[in-house]
Amino acid sequence: MQVPGVRFDEFYDQAELLAWCEAAVKARPKLAKLHRLTTTPDGHPLLLLEITDRATGPGESKPGYLLHANIHPHELTTITAALVVARDLLTGHGQDEETTALLRRVTFYVVPCLAPDGAEFALKTNGSVRSRSYPRRRPNGLLQADMDGDGQIRWMRWPDPDGDHALHPEEPCLLVRRQPEHDGPFYRLVPEGEVPLYDGGPVHLSERRVDFNRQWPAYWEPEHIQGGAGDFPFSEPEMRAIGEFVMAHRNIYAMLGFHTGGNGVLRPSATRADSELDAEDVKTMRQVGARGAELTGFALFSVSDYCRTYSIDAKLRGHFTDWAYSHLGTLTYEIELGNLYNSAGVTTEQWREATPAEQDLLALDALRWSEAHDYGAFAPWRAFDHPQLGEVEIGGWVRYRLANPALSHLEAIAERCSKFIRYHAALAPWLELRVEVTSFGEVKRLRAAVVNRGELPTNITRQALRLQGIEGLEVSLRLADGVELLSRQQVSALGHLPRLQGKRELEWFVRAPAGGEVTITATCPRAGRVEERVTLEP
Ligand SMILES: [Zn+2]
Repeated sequence: MQVPGVRFDEFYDQAELLAWCEAAVKARPKLAKLHRLTTTPDGHPLLLLEITDRATGPGESKPGYLLHANIHPHELTTITAALVVARDLLTGHGQDEETTALLRRVTFYVVPCLAPDGAEFALKTNGSVRSRSYPRRRPNGLLQADMDGDGQIRWMRWPDPDGDHALHPEEPCLLVRRQPEHDGPFYRLVPEGEVPLYDGGPVHLSERRVDFNRQWPAYWEPEHIQGGAGDFPFSEPEMRAIGEFVMAHRNIYAMLGFHTGGNGVLRPSATRADSELDAEDVKTMRQVGARGAELTGFALFSVSDYCRTYSIDAKLRGHFTDWAYSHLGTLTYEIELGNLYNSAGVTTEQWREATPAEQDLLALDALRWSEAHDYGAFAPWRAFDHPQLGEVEIGGWVRYRLANPALSHLEAIAERCSKFIRYHAALAPWLELRVEVTSFGEVKRLRAAVVNRGELPTNITRQALRLQGIEGLEVSLRLADGVELLSRQQVSALGHLPRLQGKRELEWFVRAPAGGEVTITATCPRAGRVEERVTLEP
């Protein structure tokens, strides 16, 4: 049976995503398993594809790599990119040596859509959502709705001398944020919707917005300090589900989150300067990230550098990368796949160097690209008689098309990211166990060497050494009946192994007058589990 292909002509909705995952498991039942972490408030399953070669052991007996996508619902191409990663693993197994070897010793956990409710809303209605919205009825508060009956929640604009937008100097269908040098006409711009308690005052979108990527426990701050924070870390059910999954899977040593936005490879921290992090860890993040930059063609940034455009110092509290590094000590990245500006030729560097006013002008490049490629990223404005506001125009950007790289560019982008993910995952610690038996009559000496062949130490980062509860190597000896242990220790806790041939050696003496069997097991959650069974001669 064929692993399903990935489509690049349209965005995936939740039904198609589920169908893809189910078909993938059917096609490769020995490699793929589908988990449902929870059911969302709107009734969608929160899916997780577990991918590993189970012939070499169950998922949890190997280092784990977690990939999540679509934590931000408009970033729909991240779902497609996550499926490309899964597809490449499933089709590569048995085809190319690298992927086959990788799945023998690493387990992938792929969450293709972390905000299914928002993703469905974004795709089906074109409405505006961060990760989840809680609408509130307030005086002059706007509630998003399709007012003109075209099935879409677009934008509304109307002239207002006190408006905070002005016309783009070269293209009057585009609005730019009002600057002191602008002459009129000025406009108001809000999402399409109704204003049930309108009294003529300024209209504002009236909803409480939660950003799931401000919901992770590290450096979390409440709403008045960090917009989108939610009630408390992991207060949203999808976030709680992924948090519990990660905490229950002690084998997870590396993670990556897909986003869309000006393309880039992002590393920790979202709140701390490099000088506040462990210097060795920063070096590793940079080295591995540099390979990511090389493979994807995107520049490498720390999250806080990436957000610091035009000298605005943005700290993102409750961010994934800080949780992954500061609380878990994993080696973690995010990749921004790009947006329509990038597809239209605006580089991330150009964008970051532009002032907000200059950025607004660049929208023309995206518009021209969409027109030239008949991409439908912008709906022409149409007059509409609004029940509360009177004469307005409805139209404007199709949010999820502007927020993503063009579909025609996606396949190449996703394949480059997939390549980096396989490289990143292949750095995993890699335990090898060698056992040697010497007989002295009925007394046997067992010597075991446990070696880490991986490119990362079993602790992954130095930060992990500071954290309580990132378990090290444990080696144990199991004896068959009739075999007696003469040495004192049966189980040894040996701490962590350095990268590339980091080694611990053990020695036991047993008495086995009638022969028998002993089993030596070496376990380190982030490095996996290896076992060696030895038959002793009488
Ligand atoms: Zn995002």
